Amino acid sequence: MRVKSLEISGFKSFAKKSTLEFGASISAIVGPNGSGKSNVAEALRFVLGEQSLKSMRGKRTEDLIFNGSKSAERQNRARVTISFDNKDRTFPIDYDEVAISREIHRDASSEYFINGSSVRLKDVIELLASVHIGASGHHIISQGEADRILNTSPKERRVMIEDALGLKIYQWKIAESEKKLAKTEENMRQTESLRREIAPHIKFLKKQVEKVEQARTLRDELAMLYGDYLIREETYIKHTREKLHKEKEGLEKELHEANEALAHADSLRGVQTKDSAEVAELVKVRSEMGAVRRERDDLGRKIGRLEGMIEYEERRLNTPPEAHEKVVSAEEAENLAQNLYDELGHAESSEDYLYIKGVVSATRQKVGKFLEHIRGSEGVPVNNDAAINALEDLRREHKTLVDSQHNLEEMIRGFEGKVHELEAILENKRTETTEAERASFEFRAKKQELTLRLGMVREHIENFARDEVSFREELREGGILVGRSVLDYVNTPIDVEIALAEPRAEQEARRKKIERTKIRLEDMMGGGSGEEIMREYEEAVERDAFLARELEDLTKSAESLHALCRELEETLGLQFKEGIKKINKQFGEFFALMFGGGTASLEVAIEKKKKRSDTDIVENPDEIEEEEGEEGIEVAISLPHKKIRGLQMLSGGERALTSIALIFAVSQVNPPPFLVLDETDAALDEANSKKYGDMVATLAKYSQLIVITHNRETMSRAGIIYGVTMGSDAISKLLSIKFEEAVEVAK
Ligand code: ATP
Repeated sequence: MRVKSLEISGFKSFAKKSTLEFGASISAIVGPNGSGKSNVAEALRFVLGEQSLKSMRGKRTEDLIFNGSKSAERQNRARVTISFDNKDRTFPIDYDEVAISREIHRDASSEYFINGSSVRLKDVIELLASVHIGASGHHIISQGEADRILNTSPKERRVMIEDALGLKIYQWKIAESEKKLAKTEENMRQTESLRREIAPHIKFLKKQVEKVEQARTLRDELAMLYGDYLIREETYIKHTREKLHKEKEGLEKELHEANEALAHADSLRGVQTKDSAEVAELVKVRSEMGAVRRERDDLGRKIGRLEGMIEYEERRLNTPPEAHEKVVSAEEAENLAQNLYDELGHAESSEDYLYIKGVVSATRQKVGKFLEHIRGSEGVPVNNDAAINALEDLRREHKTLVDSQHNLEEMIRGFEGKVHELEAILENKRTETTEAERASFEFRAKKQELTLRLGMVREHIENFARDEVSFREELREGGILVGRSVLDYVNTPIDVEIALAEPRAEQEARRKKIERTKIRLEDMMGGGSGEEIMREYEEAVERDAFLARELEDLTKSAESLHALCRELEETLGLQFKEGIKKINKQFGEFFALMFGGGTASLEVAIEKKKKRSDTDIVENPDEIEEEEGEEGIEVAISLPHKKIRGLQMLSGGERALTSIALIFAVSQVNPPPFLVLDETDAALDEANSKKYGDMVATLAKYSQLIVITHNRETMSRAGIIYGVTMGSDAISKLLSIKFEEAVEVAK
């Protein structure tokens, strides 16, 4: 790997695009003062990612961009590209050439490119670090900077040497690890503080969770109570419902039957005896019978009268005339009495008003006639013949009448038979009606009783429907409270018979117990299900566990970072010591070469700092505590024939020689890919210039050299010489020139 070219455009005095090709192991840049040679070295620093404006002699970014001149306009951007030959793949990039570009604008924006692709500064630094080109730019020794290595503090010197030895990577890794460690420790502190913060919350939540768990146990208990209660209730409801409906149906059937029986009884009862045909017939028969009886009675009376007349006539015929007096025969009186007795007897047994009235009036007439007969009869003289004839007439008439009477009697008996028959029928009917009435009464009573009972059953059913509603309500409520169907909780089946046989008070007691448990549960859970708390607790515990794991991981990585730091420091220390040893060998040789003898070496010294300065007046010197400082590098020299032991005692030239010897020694121990030396040889006399030239030639075996010089000897060692000129337009121009021209140009 070597530097192929440098293309500068708009950077500082290089307003126009200028390209330097570094085709030789030593390239020299020559030119008069102020022509822009150092700007080339700075362009190199710039493109390699230099961030310090000071090291590029600028205060602002703008100072790096061509600022214009009387005859040239200023530029708005500066762009520098360095191209490396990468055929040997020193750069871990699969290209034969690696070109790194940096571009800046007046607004201070900066862009980097690797082979034309925009990249970050970090990528450039990493890529360069991979080929030991450090950002500190130890391979670019700026003008007048050569003896910086001597002027600086031991600690700073150590840093410079470490960098030159390529140990920067360890420093960088240590710094990275320390940064990571600090970050890890910070994370650990934060994690610990987070854990401390959530600990009381977890404690609080744990208590809540315990409560929730208690509540859950209680809820399970409640679920069991509910289950037991409700399964019993369900059984009760089911059975009671069936029982009541069966009862209702039975009663309805019975009522229906009673209604039918009642209707039947009422239809029977509805037969009215007085309106019936038999009653009319009876009245008719009785009336006809009454008329016949009256006819018979009249006949009887006529017969009686005839018999009286016959008796009278017979007696008159047989009795002297003086003996004629008012006589009423015993037979006549007995007949009348018998007749009345019979009539009244019939009337007595009759219920027929008309008939009875008829008998009474007939009786009155008979008695009237009898009285009239008694009062109207006188004694009359008897004419025997006439009397006998009359008697005969009477006797014939009597016989006719008695015959008629017999006929009538016969008729009456016929009527009486009919009356008996009808009365028997009516009696029968009366009996039937009474029976129907009794039945009607009975069925009515039964109907009433059934209706009452049915009403009660219906009321019961109605009340029971309310029980059912409240059962369903309880079931629903229980479900909500328990979180699922309460009946799922029933494990032990109940004995239905026993359950039904137990008094309702037992269920009531169960219900009350459920109520009490519900209240306790509500008190415990405050209405919430506790899910939230459980979840929050789980989350908090999970978070804590996560933090604990994280802390563990962090502790582990902190430990490994500690170990890594120690390891790196050890490696660094070891390599540093090795490096110093090697440098000292070279340093000694170069020094002896330059000064024709003498010794020079680097010595590791521990800088000890005191808490108080030496000038302080100290009463008790023991109070001054010494602190162990960091390791630094001292330069120890001894010149031949001179008793010079400190750097400060050297002349300017001697300092330049010493620093060149040191820089070259360092460069040779760990050769950078290229080395830029900006007028490092400025202070050398001719003899030393020769020695310098030799050293440069030696060094060029290990590193590609770009030297900026006015020194003829140095120029003579270069394979390529670029002349930098600046005309009136204040723009640097480049030209490749020959050695002879170079001496001329350098003037
Ligand atoms: P010497 O031999 O004296 O060391 P040199 O050749 O190294 O000189 P440089 O220091 O590289 O010269 O160049 C300095 C020149 O560059 C100055 O003339 C300065 O004006 C010019 N210069 C610096 N910055 C800019 C800029 N931003 N724009 C234009 N010109 C600039």
